[in-house]
Amino acid sequence: MFEDKTLVCKDCGEEFVFTAREQEFYESKGFVNEPQRCKPCRDKRKNAGRAPREMHEAVCAACGGVAKVPFIPRDDRPVYCSDCFAKMKEESAPAPVEEAPAQEAPAEQDAE
Ligand SMILES: [Zn+2]
Ligand SMILES: [Zn+2]
Repeated sequence: MFEDKTLVCKDCGEEFVFTAREQEFYESKGFVNEPQRCKPCRDKRKNAGRAPREMHEAVCAACGGVAKVPFIPRDDRPVYCSDCFAKMKEESAPAPVEEAPAQEAPAEQDAE
């Protein structure tokens, strides 16, 4: 049986409980190492990898509205708001590619 264990978080130095239930979960997953960080610190690290991209505001070249883009807008490139961008994408979507005619099976070659 597992027993609650008190561990010290590597990040913030706070003690946290590695509960019997968690230990059971860890074992079921085959994890051999105990958690190094308390839950808040683990969550923090998890979220750090998924930080939202920095957005830059620009004027939409189509409707004049505010366009938010994940890159620094440059003067020589029109920037579109998400609405206009979606509209343009729809309009410029390539027509469905026709299926290529089935190739004839290569003639059997005479073995030499
Ligand atoms: Zn911590
Ligand atoms: Zn627009």
